[in-house]
Amino acid sequence: MTTPLIIAIDGPAASGKSTLGFRLAEALGYLYFDTGLMYRAITWLTLERQVGIHDEAAITRLAEEVPIDVSAPSLQDGRVCDVVIAGRDITWEIRKPEVESNVSAVSAYAGVRQALSLQQRRIGLRGRVVMVGRDIGTVVLPEADLKIYLDASPEERAKRRYEEILGRGGHANFDDILVKVIERDRIDSTRAVAPLKPAPDAFILDSDRLDADTVFEKAYDLCKA
Ligand code: C5P
Repeated sequence: MTTPLIIAIDGPAASGKSTLGFRLAEALGYLYFDTGLMYRAITWLTLERQVGIHDEAAITRLAEEVPIDVSAPSLQDGRVCDVVIAGRDITWEIRKPEVESNVSAVSAYAGVRQALSLQQRRIGLRGRVVMVGRDIGTVVLPEADLKIYLDASPEERAKRRYEEILGRGGHANFDDILVKVIERDRIDSTRAVAPLKPAPDAFILDSDRLDADTVFEKAYDLCKA
């Protein structure tokens, strides 16, 4: 029995990938790497520098030239890591609605994907990693030893996002969140480059009918199978 060294977890927004990936990495003593935060960081920088969201060439240059630093958490405010770009700690900024509304457009650009996928692949190939995203099993690390595709209905995912925001003391409107989840799914799964889809050899877990503990147990069993 050998535990897989490279584990890829893909799936749509708010399907529970981060929770599962983090727990799995912790249980195995592996690095947890959330690739979504890289797309979010470039989107944040695009908005911060007032680069037009349709200016693919300029956004690609940002992705190629500006390093994104992901490191161990420096504060105990619920973060699982620090995300720093151009000297700014943007760990919480990248979770804001303006980033969320634009990230799928930015991540559809081929040049952006190429620049970020290359970095992700380099990190992933070192092994002992749980990498989470949309295209890890299909494009970034097709040689991953274990691929999991975590799915859930848009309604369930919107409900989770809604409760998460309220839990942090924020305000949210369920219908707005649902519309945005569906729109993000549409862009992520229909883009020309690296669309969201399960790898042919991925294990598909539907978290609609499974709570987080059961999803974790099933994934952990797959690691040990
Ligand atoms: O996972 P998260 O919701 O943080 O990802 C934010 C966005 O980044 C996704 O909606 C998707 O557009 C993009 N993304 C991607 N490929 C990945 C990870 C995220 O296109 N591997």
